[in-house]
Amino acid sequence: MNRKPNIAVVGATGVVGSTFLKVLEERDFPYENIYFMASKKSAGKVINFRGKDVVVEELTEHSFDKPIDIALFSAGGGTSEKFAPIAAAHGVTVVDNSSQWRMDENVPLVVPEVNPQDISWNKGIIANPNCSTIQAMVALKPIQDKYGLKRVIYSTYQAVSGSGVKGINDLKNGLEGNGAELQAYAHPIAGNCLPHIDVFTDNGYTKEEMKMINETHKILGDDNIKVTATTVRVPVFDSHSESINIETEKPFELEDIVELFKNSPGIIVQDDPANNVYPLALNAAGTDEVYIGRIRRDFSIDNGLNIWVVADNIRKGAATNAVQIAEKLLTQLPD
Ligand code: NAP
Repeated sequence: MNRKPNIAVVGATGVVGSTFLKVLEERDFPYENIYFMASKKSAGKVINFRGKDVVVEELTEHSFDKPIDIALFSAGGGTSEKFAPIAAAHGVTVVDNSSQWRMDENVPLVVPEVNPQDISWNKGIIANPNCSTIQAMVALKPIQDKYGLKRVIYSTYQAVSGSGVKGINDLKNGLEGNGAELQAYAHPIAGNCLPHIDVFTDNGYTKEEMKMINETHKILGDDNIKVTATTVRVPVFDSHSESINIETEKPFELEDIVELFKNSPGIIVQDDPANNVYPLALNAAGTDEVYIGRIRRDFSIDNGLNIWVVADNIRKGAATNAVQIAEKLLTQLPD
C-alpha cells in the first residue's frame, strides 16, 4: 500500500500489549493514526507513544467504526472471540495473540519465517501461534524442508511471564517469601517446576501441550508428523527454553545441521559446549531471535537429533511475531 495504515492495539495495557508498543517503535512501524484499546478499567489512561500522549479507549462494538487497517489483539480469548469478527466485518485485518482462532480452518496460523504464504488467504483474522510453538517452528522448519520430520518430542521449561502479570507476581512474591497468596499457579513457583501449564484435558495432556501438538501440524502443514509434548513452568521470569528431540525421515550429517541453522532466518546458533556456550534464558530476554545450541545426535535411534531452543516468549513468542505479520500485511492492504 502507498499510504500509511491506521493501527489499533487491543489490550495495549497488558504484558504483551505493552511489548507490542515497544516493538512497533523499535521497528519504526509506519502508521497514520494509532489507537490503544483495553477494558473499561483502563479507559482514559494515557500512554506516551513515540513522544505523543495517546488516550486508551474502552473496546466496544463501535471501536472499529473509524477507519482502521490492522488491529493487533492481545486481550484474552473471550475478547478476541467477540471483537475480532466485528473488526474483520469492518474491513480490519486482525492479528490475534489469543488461542481463540488458532485452529479455525478459516484462519491462517503464521510464523513469518516459516509459512508467510498463509497470510494471503486470511479472511480478516490471522492467528499468532502459542509462544512455545513459535520458537519450535523457527527451529523445525529448515529440518523439515531438508530432511523431513518423522517424530518430534517437546520438553519445555517456560517462563512465568507467559502467565502475564499474575505469574510474574507469584514468582516475585515467592522469592521474597512474603507469604502472599498465589495468583496464577496451583503451587508455589519459586524453587519449583510445575508440569502443569493451562488446564488438563481428558487425554491427560494439558491444553498447552495439545496446543504445541496441534499447532505444529497446522503450521508445518503435515498431520503425519508424530508429535508429543510435556510443558513445564519453571522459576524464570522471561524466555522459554525447550529441549526438542527430533527424528528425521532422511539421514543427516551433524555439521550440515549446524550450517543449516546458521543460514536459516531468525536463528542464532550458540553451540560451543567446551567454552560453556549454549542458549540461556537470561541472554535471550529482550531479543527477537531464536537461539539454538546443544546440537547433538540422538544415538538411541537412526536419524535422531537433540537441540536446545531458547527465545523471549513475550517478544518472538508473541509481540514481535505479530508485528512481523503486520509488516508483511503492509504490502497486501488496499490503497
Ligand atoms: P495481561 O497482562 O493480563 O493483559 C491483558 C490485556 O487485555 C490488558 O490490556 C487488559 O486491559 C485487556 N483486556 C482484558 N479484558 C478486556 C476486555 N474485556 N476488553 C478489552 N480489553 C481487555 O495479559 P497478557 O499476558 O498480555 O496476555 C494477553 C493475551 O495474549 C492473552 O490472550 C494471552 O493468552 C496472549 N498471549 C500471551 C503470551 C504471554 O507470553 N504472556 C504469549 C502469547 C499470547 P485492562 O488493563 O483494561 O484490564
